[in-house]
Amino acid sequence: MEVEYLSVKRITALHLDEFCAAAEEVVRSGRYLRGQHVAHFEEQYAAYTGQQHCISCGNGLDALTIMLRAYKELGVLCAGDEIVVPANTFIATILAITENGLVPVLVEPRLQDYQIDDALIEKALTHRTRAIMLVHLYGYNALTEKIASLCRRHHLLLLQDCAQAHGWHKVCSLPRHDDIRGAAAYSFYPGKNLAAFADAGAITTSDGALAAVARALANYGAREKYVFTYQGRNSRMDEMSAAILSIKLKYLDEENRRRQEIADYYIDHIRHDGLLLPPREGVHHIFPILFSERDRLRAYLRAEGVETLVHYPLPPHRQDCYKEYNALSLPRTERIAREELSLPLHQALRDDEVEHVVAAINRFV
Ligand SMILES: *Cc1c(COP(=O)(O)O)cnc(C)c1O
Repeated sequence: MEVEYLSVKRITALHLDEFCAAAEEVVRSGRYLRGQHVAHFEEQYAAYTGQQHCISCGNGLDALTIMLRAYKELGVLCAGDEIVVPANTFIATILAITENGLVPVLVEPRLQDYQIDDALIEKALTHRTRAIMLVHLYGYNALTEKIASLCRRHHLLLLQDCAQAHGWHKVCSLPRHDDIRGAAAYSFYPGKNLAAFADAGAITTSDGALAAVARALANYGAREKYVFTYQGRNSRMDEMSAAILSIKLKYLDEENRRRQEIADYYIDHIRHDGLLLPPREGVHHIFPILFSERDRLRAYLRAEGVETLVHYPLPPHRQDCYKEYNALSLPRTERIAREELSLPLHQALRDDEVEHVVAAINRFV
């Protein structure tokens, strides 16, 4: 049996007729940008996330970058301000920070759930810290009461990279923290839990001032037509993507439950000494395991027909584009880069495929 890591084609096939009908409707409408589908999706997604505003944009990196830039235009952030951020994130989180002339302060994650270690945040705060950027990496919750109280005590923005965590708030048992100022950025890249057939992204927030500036920034900086308040950019979601995303949003909770079922099966049935399994609760964008002989396990699984990936082989502070951070020692982050292996997990994966993966791992010596 061959188990593909991610089959976007099979995920699309789950609701193929609905997607084709929507696509045909958009094609025939003659309106491809800034139309009713985008407005409708923004309304639906704001309601889904429990926020007052959703500002769609071109991709997840733009969502992060515009979110930070908007706080700069508001004077809440200034160039040189420090943003606390997990060291073990995808490069986009860090790019958005440095692109804005802000300084990422890299904090180590916990190995048990890969999320920023809240016990280390206070030590990382300085008089220049203005925000904590959480990344709900792999679809696990990163927000804790301790982080919320640090934000309140030090008047920090609570920013969130939710690119891997669509629907995380539905499985997170924490009370809401609507009193803390902040915003979240989402990506709808084709491989994410909520995914378009092209690049797309969005910012969600209940911060009305931020929403207005972010919306203008994504539209050349215009607050009204041909009146340019900011030096903005062009970053739009197209009508086709919005129409597809509105359909997919209806199935997101159900599909995240299927992901949970698969994660439960892995956690309950994988038996192997020395292998670290992830936590149970989450929206399971990725199912990460840690193993000291990761590359040998990966080659073995490949021979057994199981495709796996590594998220991510080189952390941001070890990349050529961040030479100034190359000398940092972040042992947990580096261990994750050395030992992490992602098993197949998506909403169209069949039971027999999941069982095949488990049986293969349990035979591994
Ligand atoms: C995918 C991803 C992004 C970037 O999203 P794009 O739409 O690809 O630009 C940002 N942060 C994280 C954690 C991601 O996984």
